[in-house]
Amino acid sequence: MKRIAAALAAVAALSAQAQSAPFAIAIHGGAGNFTRADVPAETEKQRLAVLSDSLEAGRRILAAGGSSLDAVVAAVRILEDSPHFNAGRGSVFTAEGTNEMDASIMEGSHRRAGAVAGVTTVKNPITAARAVMEKSRHVMLSGRGADAFAKEQGLEIVDPSHFRTQERWDQLQRAKERAGTPLDHDAPKAGAGKKTSALAADEKYGTVGAVALDKSGNLAAATSTGGITNKRYGRVGDSPVIGAGTWAENESVAVSMTGTGEMILRSAT
Ligand code: ASP
Repeated sequence: MKRIAAALAAVAALSAQAQSAPFAIAIHGGAGNFTRADVPAETEKQRLAVLSDSLEAGRRILAAGGSSLDAVVAAVRILEDSPHFNAGRGSVFTAEGTNEMDASIMEGSHRRAGAVAGVTTVKNPITAARAVMEKSRHVMLSGRGADAFAKEQGLEIVDPSHFRTQERWDQLQRAKERAGTPLDHDAPKAGAGKKTSALAADEKYGTVGAVALDKSGNLAAATSTGGITNKRYGRVGDSPVIGAGTWAENESVAVSMTGTGEMILRSAT
């Protein structure tokens, strides 16, 4: 009897501890090359609303004692479903006019990780990355193999047109015009102030990511992107690369990167 009482007391103490244990979440909607002045007030309002929904979805899971993995996936899926960010629906276009998306996820207790690169039909690439981590022997799947795996896992598959938005299409046309101009004479967009480079101006922005700490002390990180506008088809950036775009380790940090993938990869960030 005494033993049962002691066990119950221990459980009660643990759950009290769990109730008050700290948790945290941070999200990002990408590092873009634009200023407030470039973004219409209505668009800014819509973007902030989506960011706030994303943060709240993750926060709610963590507050209820859910896992950091569930929290980062919930937060990133909301950003992927919005046309306002360069991930999932709203991804930037390749030079061929297609959308190829990259995503990765990592959990900090055992450093398990999963990633997909160059997917074109799975509605939420971050969920596919999680499936690679949890349901396969691998860390990264790419292209058709990744899309086929997502389908086999019963994830939501959509027509590639789901990812297309007019805004990104116009962005591709501007990027193509710029690419046809020698760099030194490349006129910046009105208000851009600086000379553009091969991977500058509005060729990249809006990659999304989330990092979280749950009440059990576990970290997780997730990143999802359409990459950079006017990229060659087949180009893979930092976002699906564990140790570059995403990292989580309970003993140290959880990180989700954004910026020009080529630079991030070369820095072994
Ligand atoms: N890091 C992403 C990539 O290079 C782009 C971004 O963060 O804006 O694919």
